Amino acid sequence: MPKSDPNPLSEFDLIARFFSPPAAQGFVGVGDDCGIMPVRPGFQLAVSTDTLIEGRHFFSDADPADIGHKALAVNLSDLAAAGAQPRACLLSLSLPHADESWLQAFSQGFLSLANESGCQLIGGDTTRSHDKIILGVTVLGEVPVSQALLRGRAQPDDDIWVTGQLGAPHTALQLRQGVWAADEALLAQTLPRLLRPQPPVHWAPELLGHAHAAIDISDGLIQDLQHILHDSQFGARVEAAAIPQHPALTHLSAEQQLEAVLSGGDEFELCFTAPVAQRAHILDSAAKAGVAVQRIGTITLEPTLQILDFEGKALNAEPTGFDHFNRS
Ligand code: ADP
Ligand code: MG
Repeated sequence: MPKSDPNPLSEFDLIARFFSPPAAQGFVGVGDDCGIMPVRPGFQLAVSTDTLIEGRHFFSDADPADIGHKALAVNLSDLAAAGAQPRACLLSLSLPHADESWLQAFSQGFLSLANESGCQLIGGDTTRSHDKIILGVTVLGEVPVSQALLRGRAQPDDDIWVTGQLGAPHTALQLRQGVWAADEALLAQTLPRLLRPQPPVHWAPELLGHAHAAIDISDGLIQDLQHILHDSQFGARVEAAAIPQHPALTHLSAEQQLEAVLSGGDEFELCFTAPVAQRAHILDSAAKAGVAVQRIGTITLEPTLQILDFEGKALNAEPTGFDHFNRS
């Protein structure tokens, strides 16, 4: 629909057409004053929310289906980090205008991931913004009472694990922003990981009772691991050579590879710690679920972080991650 259309979609038409998936058994979906979701006895609710702003969290010209996917994926990643199973979500949309084809693709991207993840859309809010698209997503998940994975539960001698293959989102971002020399082939190989993160949502609850602490990698592996170390009051030794790396990164210099895997954000994979005795179980259950997992280091009693580069030499500079208020 052109922006100047004299009969734009009303707020209610928009909600009814694009954001009213059928409600699953036991749920009251979009359209009433409150969404209602069943909560099983013996479980706690795990709740998380994230905002995405046009130009900061997604490119203005991005495919709206990718934006819809990512808006939910970055929230599902927080549930995964708690070991919670997604159950429901809420979507707050602030749009400068109602563009039907944008909404159609956005809702398809959002709702197909919601459907795949067992996450029922039960409500939200729709408002007009001044000039930018602002998306607020809240997710609700279930986790057995007192079993949620928390950042502060790491123990000395725990293995440190990561899921997936790291470095592609950072590489795509550096290439898109012209910080790294243009390389169309490399951009094509890495961009999908930036646009469509795939957090290990289905597998994460398998970690309950096996892992000690977990976090999702949103601001860079090292910065996110630091949260676990800070909250657990222990240290760590991490071997860069052990970090699973996206295969396309072999085209980059060792320095760029190191930066991408240690400090690159937007991964939405998990970093977790678990006792050595859990190795076989973790490898086995991840293999059954088709999730890549890799041990990258150890939690140490000594509360410092030691990072070994690809040659096994200690890095002196601590790589930083992303901080909204320290960098723009
Ligand atoms: P209220 O005035 O009670 O807040 P609204 O008129 O804002 O209700 O919304 C009507 C219904 O549509 C509510 O069920 C609300 O949760 C839902 N809703 C509004 N916007 C969205 C959206 N973007 N996605 C999903 N549900 C939405
Ligand atoms: Mg409202």
